Amino acid sequence: MMIERILVIGAGTMGRQIAMSCALAGYATILQDVSAQVLREARAELEGWAASRVAKGKMAREDAELALGRLSQSTDLERSAGQADLVIEAAVEQREIKERIFAQLGCVAPTHAILATNSSTLPSSAIAAASGRPALVCNMHFFNPALVMKCVEIVRNGQTSDATVQAVMGVAKRLGKEPVLVNKEIPGFIANRIMGAINREALELAEAGVASIDDIDTTARTALGHPMGPFELMDLVGLDVIDFIAQMTYAQSGEEQDRPHQLITEKVRSGKLGRKSGEGFYPYTH
Ligand code: NAD
Repeated sequence: MMIERILVIGAGTMGRQIAMSCALAGYATILQDVSAQVLREARAELEGWAASRVAKGKMAREDAELALGRLSQSTDLERSAGQADLVIEAAVEQREIKERIFAQLGCVAPTHAILATNSSTLPSSAIAAASGRPALVCNMHFFNPALVMKCVEIVRNGQTSDATVQAVMGVAKRLGKEPVLVNKEIPGFIANRIMGAINREALELAEAGVASIDDIDTTARTALGHPMGPFELMDLVGLDVIDFIAQMTYAQSGEEQDRPHQLITEKVRSGKLGRKSGEGFYPYTH
């Protein structure tokens, strides 16, 4: 299965950087969003990012210009899907919206086109049927920031074909990533499950008064070699994001261990979302 043209749906935090990664790897790439304003902001951000890489000597000016030249944008899904070999959907995390997009793609994308979702919490089996081509559907889960993070979790659903898996694995490798294959759909895939387990234990230690937040983070860094402690990392990701992932995971698994932790829920309720709001487990001065 030859993939030459990629459509990325959703130009937010993830989609814009996934699209730039595709353009840098030589793919003719369209970035689509319902909002023209978001597309303008995405373009400005990516041009700024490329200019700064060039200024720092980390990228040749010609490569930056070629990549930006390969990247076009559109608010029109039907027209932009018409020639795609691969669609990577990174629209807002709402099942109804993703289902609607997959149903539309089933009608307007070429019949050979693979449809991947970047969703962190929605398994592709939940939306594959809407596309009418479940064998060509999977999760292709990038990490934030997508231009930097090497991991891509390729999650196959019960109907994903081997050819689909091979094709998206090949694309991820060409993007310079280190893709991993998740053979079974499971809430949280691999990375968020491991992170969830670490966070859960760290929260329980803090809640029980076993050690301070600071000392738990220090231990993770100095004894386990983690670059950041769990509380520092949760603050960086955003406590609202952590809480949302826990809610979605709990809704799917029903397992007590996945229930959103009350320390996080309380912080979110009081507007303490982490770095982005100026305070989470730690205070931040912007
Ligand atoms: P975001 O809110 O930053 O961006 C979502 C974009 O989708 C917005 O620009 C919005 O205008 C657009 N959109 C909404 N409805 C649309 C539609 N019908 N068609 C086209 N575009 C539409 O969200 P994000 O953080 O980039 O997350 C996007 C996806 O990536 C989600 O599925 C999320 O689970 C997943 N994800 C997010 C992260 C993260 O850290 N933010 C990491 C991995 C995966």
